Amino acid sequence: MSRFVDRVTIHVAAGNGGNGCTSVHREKFKPLGGPDGGNGGRGGDVVLVVDPNVHTLLDFHFRPHARATNGRQGQGANRDGADGSELRLSVPDGTVVLDPDGAVLADLVGQGTTMVAARGGRGGLGNAALASRARRAPGFALLGEPGETRDLVLELKSVADVGLVGFPSAGKSSLISVLSSARPKIADYPFTTLAPNLGVVTAGETVFTVADVPGLIPGASEGKGLGLDFLRHIERCAVLVHVVDCATFEPGRDPLSDVDALERELANYTPSLGEELASRPRIIVLNKMDVPDARELAVLVRPDLRARGLPVFEVSTASREGLRELTFAMARAVEEHRAAQPILEPTRIVLRPAAVDDAGFTVQPDPEQEGGFIVWGERPERWVRQTLFSNDEAVGYLADRLARLGVEEALAKAGAVPGCQVTIGGISFDWEPSTPAGVAVLMTGRGHDVRLGRSTRVGAAERKAAKKARRQTGSDDSRDDAGDDERGEPEE
Ligand code: GDP
Ligand code: MG
Repeated sequence: MSRFVDRVTIHVAAGNGGNGCTSVHREKFKPLGGPDGGNGGRGGDVVLVVDPNVHTLLDFHFRPHARATNGRQGQGANRDGADGSELRLSVPDGTVVLDPDGAVLADLVGQGTTMVAARGGRGGLGNAALASRARRAPGFALLGEPGETRDLVLELKSVADVGLVGFPSAGKSSLISVLSSARPKIADYPFTTLAPNLGVVTAGETVFTVADVPGLIPGASEGKGLGLDFLRHIERCAVLVHVVDCATFEPGRDPLSDVDALERELANYTPSLGEELASRPRIIVLNKMDVPDARELAVLVRPDLRARGLPVFEVSTASREGLRELTFAMARAVEEHRAAQPILEPTRIVLRPAAVDDAGFTVQPDPEQEGGFIVWGERPERWVRQTLFSNDEAVGYLADRLARLGVEEALAKAGAVPGCQVTIGGISFDWEPSTPAGVAVLMTGRGHDVRLGRSTRVGAAERKAAKKARRQTGSDDSRDDAGDDERGEPEE
């Protein structure tokens, strides 16, 4: 059986960051003109954008894979690689984004609302950006980071402003076809024969959409028939219209009990939502007034329905009587609903891994490696990904960064001994602390070309003192220790 596409799983991949470049400026008489390797470009993000012209998730059904472009590599002469371009995927208003486990990540409502579904990888810094007073000619650059990849479930909650409910053959489809000025292409797909019919209706200044919700039958809220699939569609309809067949005489059925039966289904559809649905405005349409018996029946039930506070319209899709009044009543209800909505600024939603604690990392014993440890943390793991392990200097730089963050100290405290296995970001090392005690000692002498200046090896305490002194004298030599947060590498 074909199913209406109101739920798709998409696989999004952001672009990878470009690698930084290692290059040394060369000029006549200046054989070592300094590092000039540019930074790699950022990988493009994959972004979901609410587009009011998109009404279905069908495109994703046919093309579930989306990939943004990679950042380019940095080059010599301080040329940074170009960033990858963002890939924007248009989704209908009211798209709910879930993770594969069913947790709601975002509810995309309002034109222009965007959500970064997958973040592009950062570009790696080139050796020019890695240079500092203490490391004047780095012979390495950082690798670009892989872009995020994820699977997301998109769910369409609402297809229309007005939802038509009613027993089969009450005339819902007919009503849409006579009311609507345009029919979005959804009806053209052969496998959506059971899909809600969707129509665009114009009444004066107001343009709204009407959907027929064919699956709503008694028992639908227990999943009978297409029940829940279609109930999902009316969750967000601003107005619910009961289309009542006044020309069919089946035992046990009359307009009032039809309305009651469907109301019970709505109320049963998840208790909380049932309550919410209960507050949605209702309009009763008594259909098939071209049939004389129907008109008589309408006259009988009209007072009862009105007594319940429900607006009642008598129409015929065949003779088209009563349609104009109905259309304007729907438009008014839709306008009232729209006016009552808070004005939603387009929001930008970014999916991010849960933040780690302040220290930025944790050290835990490795359950699979006797005497080994695992370091967890966004930054240490990223730094490992950025490291080209075939380059000793790059590895040394990584060790420095880890030591400065306090990883060495934490490992020592946790009981790590030299030579034990330490795993960060899926890569295992033999631990070689910079000092026997594992206390962080910076080895800022790395990456130093003796021809460029005095090689120094500074202890942490000494470094702190120097920094303090600098601060006091107001000297602006902040590049001296490059910090962990090199330029071009925003920390968030
Ligand atoms: P749905 O199941 O609610 O979508 O109902 P349809 O729109 O498919 O209509 C069911 C049947 O009722 C069809 O045979 C229609 O021709 C008929 N019908 C719909 N509206 C009217 C009407 O106003 N007058 C008459 N006489 N028949 C109608
Ligand atoms: Mg129908």
